[in-house]
Amino acid sequence: MDAKVKEFMDYVVATNPAEREFHQAVHEVAENLIPFIEENPKYKAARILERMIEPERVVMFRVPWIDDRGELQVNRGYRIEMNSAIGPYKGGMRFHPTVNLGILKFLAFEQVFKNSLTSLPLGGGKGGSDFDPKGKTDNEVMRFCQSLMTELSRHIGPDTDVPAGDIGVGGREVGYMFGQYKRIINEFTGVFTGKGIEYGGSLIRPEATGYGAVYFAEEMLASINEGFKGKVVSISGSGNVSQFAAEKVIELGGKVVTLSDSTGYIYDKDGIDEEKLEYVKELKNVKRGRISEYATKYNCKYVDGVSRPWDEQADIVLPCATENEITGEDAKKLLDNGCICISEGANMPSTPEAVDLFIKNKILYGPGKAANAGGVATSGLEMSQNSIKMSWTREEVDEKLHNIMINIHKTCVEFGKEGDFTNYVKGANIGGFVKVADAMIAQGHV
Ligand code: NDP
Repeated sequence: MDAKVKEFMDYVVATNPAEREFHQAVHEVAENLIPFIEENPKYKAARILERMIEPERVVMFRVPWIDDRGELQVNRGYRIEMNSAIGPYKGGMRFHPTVNLGILKFLAFEQVFKNSLTSLPLGGGKGGSDFDPKGKTDNEVMRFCQSLMTELSRHIGPDTDVPAGDIGVGGREVGYMFGQYKRIINEFTGVFTGKGIEYGGSLIRPEATGYGAVYFAEEMLASINEGFKGKVVSISGSGNVSQFAAEKVIELGGKVVTLSDSTGYIYDKDGIDEEKLEYVKELKNVKRGRISEYATKYNCKYVDGVSRPWDEQADIVLPCATENEITGEDAKKLLDNGCICISEGANMPSTPEAVDLFIKNKILYGPGKAANAGGVATSGLEMSQNSIKMSWTREEVDEKLHNIMINIHKTCVEFGKEGDFTNYVKGANIGGFVKVADAMIAQGHV
């Protein structure tokens, strides 16, 4: 079987050179899917995996915009329309200087499996730009978003492709992009999710990815008769996903001791309580400051230049910043320090070496495509509310989100059980694959 995986990966690397993160994401899936496909020849005959790694469409375009000094800037915009077998393309937009084709293809590929796991009718896509919103004024961000949308508006639509936020794209950016789309198309539709509550957004959408990752962890912990109460929890990042993961952990009685950003991490041995978390939200979402300011305000440890808090002891770890932020060495440290559970708020935050160690040591390890699916699931709920032109209450949306996370956990157990152990990676990969693959077979060679 290893030879078959190697042969497939040689083909992927040869046909998509220099797309390291895409190779990594495909390899992780291929390791579980190739043996499954061998046992289920209908998928082999239809060459489903070979088709799934090929985006249905990739759009790449120039984004010119004028900065506050009156100078012309040029960035690159992308939209990867990966798979529409079970619904319109759906996935966030990322604005970060590291964005390139390979990163967005990895994210779009994972999105296909993740969206299928939610059980909602959502295809997979992803997009973004190498634009860096950090240090830009609101007017500069607006001019950039308007220029990007002037081109992107030709390719998206409420029944075609529905973007949302991701790293560097929050409520402000979604608002500017939605406004420009509406102006160009002259229609008020649910073309974006993560919108403001005043103009078609859903309650709980901002909270959904972080809350969902904690709900998923709760299910994993319950399977070994454990819970968050009294547990020390380490979280990386301090953006949207991290803030609401922290909020839910605090509510469930866990003690959050770390947060980070790209310049360093804080360790608060007394725990981040509700009041301190409100300060973080104001610092990051309104003042757009650095996490080091938390350490000055609350007089706690700050480690400059290290954006990963994995040296600190924690029972439960929620990586919520970015890809490949837990290396094999980090994983070893976490295990040596007694970590029993990892639930990934971020996409692909663990390197293959780290994933291998988690699985070999049989700890509770929830990969991003399952654990952080709450964000896109609630985006699906936002689309439903837009379609029926109604808004559900906070409690209604939260309950639906919670049930979706419970069901994703069940699917992972169904497809990932190996004796007493649940291999959640295998469960998520096969569980996400089957529905998309069957829909592709039904729709013929498209
Ligand atoms: P935000 O932009 O709100 O926050 C990202 C956080 O991670 C910031 O603290 C940022 O620090 C830090 N970070 C980003 N890039 C790096 C890097 N290269 N090295 C170190 N730190 C970094 O993004 P989100 O919270 O929305 O997204 C976080 C993760 O969750 C991503 O992997 C995203 O794909 C994933 N995700 C998000 C969903 C959503 O609904 N938003 C849905 C599903 C997954 P700094 O401010 O210094 O840049």
